[in-house]
Amino acid sequence: MKIKLIDTKPFHICRIFGIPVRAHYSWLPVFPLYAWVIASYLPREVPGLPLYQYWTLGFITTILLFISVLGHELAHALMARVEGLGTGNITLYIFGGLASLEGQPARPSSEFKIAVVGPAASFIIGTIFFLADHYLLFGTSYLATGQVLRHLGLVNWFLAGFNILPGLPLDGGRVLRAILWKLNKNFRAATASAVRAGFMIALALVVSGIYFFLYREWITGVWSIIVGLIIAFMLGTADGRAYGVWKVKRGTIEDVMNRDVVLVPPEMMVKDFIDDVLANNHHTSFPVARDKRLHGLLMLEELKAVPRDEWPRLKASDCMRPVDASMFISSTTTLAQAQSILAGNGLGRAVVLDSKGFIVGLVSLSDIGAKR
Ligand SMILES: [Zn+2]
Repeated sequence: MKIKLIDTKPFHICRIFGIPVRAHYSWLPVFPLYAWVIASYLPREVPGLPLYQYWTLGFITTILLFISVLGHELAHALMARVEGLGTGNITLYIFGGLASLEGQPARPSSEFKIAVVGPAASFIIGTIFFLADHYLLFGTSYLATGQVLRHLGLVNWFLAGFNILPGLPLDGGRVLRAILWKLNKNFRAATASAVRAGFMIALALVVSGIYFFLYREWITGVWSIIVGLIIAFMLGTADGRAYGVWKVKRGTIEDVMNRDVVLVPPEMMVKDFIDDVLANNHHTSFPVARDKRLHGLLMLEELKAVPRDEWPRLKASDCMRPVDASMFISSTTTLAQAQSILAGNGLGRAVVLDSKGFIVGLVSLSDIGAKR
């Protein structure tokens, strides 16, 4: 999950498999704070060590926690690459990370795989910590280290369990959306259901937080309520709009466009497109794009003219209509202007580009009609 606290630029840390890894400044206070929490709880469990050892373990634990979160995001990013969606970067925020994807996966199976590997990675990382404790330290005198390893095991299992809860914006919400999308062939309806499920989870967290309060479990109660409110807030604001559920009326294309655009990579084989993308998305044209740059449109009508036995050896880029000015529209275009453009371009829809020329959405005449 992603939380934007302050709009400062994250700082670059390193590249892993060519993917830039950045951390948000909100991580800076986490390091001393988490180290302090560990350093003050360890002496109660394992007393009698010199103070510097507790603090050293505290900082090592925090670094391992950071690496654990990174492992979770890296799993998303690498699977996104395998599925043909290049990954822009990984940014680690205070409560987790975010692997930014280049657009919405074009097929439910891709979305499912990209979403599910994050919690799976956290589960495996947690298991490794438990196994390391069991096999390396069992019966030795490294009691404090063992305590730390089990703590990291628990935290990672918790991350896995929490993120797989079936509601947006959590990974489990994407898994749920992928399944509904596959079953009903309707991406928008699947998104709406997954957002509703997210609200139910938020509500459940707030209610259970109040319940913890009644039993004087203050910390658990506060956390439960805060996380529930954050989820509800994310769904209700900017990110909710990104899921195409909330539309704010302001009069430009940006307010009514679809933000989750199914983009076809230029190198995708026509056969795969027909089997996986077309079977799950009922549109008549599909943007072909790489790195959020529009290369052209794959038109269903024109594709029908391609003989079936040529499907396995042709790529999307071989069959698309190359990009021209009629296919795209600026995100700042007013609804009135957009209506005449869309009515006149022969497509009835257009790819929406931001001021830098990156794809930010897709808009059709029905989107405009419904919102005016
Ligand atoms: Zn995740």
